[in-house]
Amino acid sequence: MRSSFCLIALAVALAACGAPPPASEPAAPGPPNIVIITADDLGYGDLGVYGHPNIRTPHLDRMATEGQRWTSFYSQAPVCSPSRAALLTGRIHLRSGMFGRQQGVFFPDSHAGLPAGEVTLAEALRDAGYATGIIGKWHLGHLPEYLPTRHGFETWFGIPYSNDMDWNLPEGMANRTAYFNPEVAYWQVPLMRDEEELERPAEQRTVTRRYGEEAAAFIERHQGQPFFLYLPHTMPHMPLFRSAAFEGHSAGGIYGDVIEEIDDAVGMVLDTLDRLGLSENTLVVFTSDNGPWTSFDTHGGSSGPLRHGKGTTFEGGMRVPGIFRWPGRIEPGVTNAIGSGMDLFTTAIGLAGGEVPTDRPIDGVDLSPVLFDSPDVAGPRRTMAYYRMGELFAFRQGQFKVHFVTQGRYGLPPERTDHDPPLLFDLSVDVGERYDIAAERPEVLEEMLAAVEAHRAQMTAGEPLFDLRGS
Ligand code: MG
Repeated sequence: MRSSFCLIALAVALAACGAPPPASEPAAPGPPNIVIITADDLGYGDLGVYGHPNIRTPHLDRMATEGQRWTSFYSQAPVCSPSRAALLTGRIHLRSGMFGRQQGVFFPDSHAGLPAGEVTLAEALRDAGYATGIIGKWHLGHLPEYLPTRHGFETWFGIPYSNDMDWNLPEGMANRTAYFNPEVAYWQVPLMRDEEELERPAEQRTVTRRYGEEAAAFIERHQGQPFFLYLPHTMPHMPLFRSAAFEGHSAGGIYGDVIEEIDDAVGMVLDTLDRLGLSENTLVVFTSDNGPWTSFDTHGGSSGPLRHGKGTTFEGGMRVPGIFRWPGRIEPGVTNAIGSGMDLFTTAIGLAGGEVPTDRPIDGVDLSPVLFDSPDVAGPRRTMAYYRMGELFAFRQGQFKVHFVTQGRYGLPPERTDHDPPLLFDLSVDVGERYDIAAERPEVLEEMLAAVEAHRAQMTAGEPLFDLRGS
């Protein structure tokens, strides 16, 4: 009696809502899987879809065609550790102490790591019911208490810091000689599984391929629940290694070989998602942790039309590829809206139905309006702050950018120069940052300085933790 009453009530309720859905309509999907793939020191100009004439990247090109390609996407810092910290915490790296006044990144004799009090994207997504895994380079502290497994990742396969650390060169060999004629034994970096060392030195020639295989296996393993996979590739950071199958693969030399193998590993992820029927419920993002290491001649990448590269606060140091794919959800196209690695934190948590922390400043913004409504909207991010060694060197708002300090890096010009008044560039017509218009556009300069003042007023830096190293 009671159940038939319920059935009648249900029928009435359905009728009130209009026609019932056709029986073949699939159940509403759960929260999307999130896959974030990064390359290390890959430049803005290094992919086919970003205009490289010789390097072929069919899988990344496909991701961009099916999804969105961003032309103003930034790493939050021009070098590894701070950029990664910002991506995983949604915060400018100064806030978490992920910078140094003397040291730019963490080293194998560093004493510190990402503080336990920071909330990582892995923790936020784990708390929202996600399986979490990292496959690749960590670089946020190698001591046990700072490992990925202590920061919300249930599993880890990868290298704790850069692939050119733990030097072990033959007597008398110069560093540069080793970089250009690399042998695996020259860098005694460990390869880790969770908190155990698997290999030392890591067999770097196969590391890119193995990351791809591990990623495919992770997706297979977790296909029944929402998952977050963070896949920070070790390459193309110098020294360059690739597997035998990719030697001579590219018309772009050894650097091209390495990029093409990374592209192949991206293909392993996409193919696995397609095969398992997960692509329509998975956001896949590809970006880089900073610009190309241009002091390595043909072994370094290219920032295309942008000025300079890794380590600098010119556009080439921080503006990087940003490709988003989610078939059926993302509005395909090319966008020049401004985005940052930090925004992946806020965007992903929003999609997952998780909680963005409210007890601390969060700098990441939700990129959903651009991704899901239109690539043509201006987007929620209006500004970019460019820090180097904890110092604000430059600032972008809209199409304009001011430089307070300019300086090359890794032996490349220019020498450090402080600018007062600052240099002013209009990136919409001068993406290569060549024509200072500060004198012509005083009203723009004034607006920029007010924006910088507002930024500085809300920026509180932690202790510079990269400087804690040595015995
Ligand atoms: Mg890097």
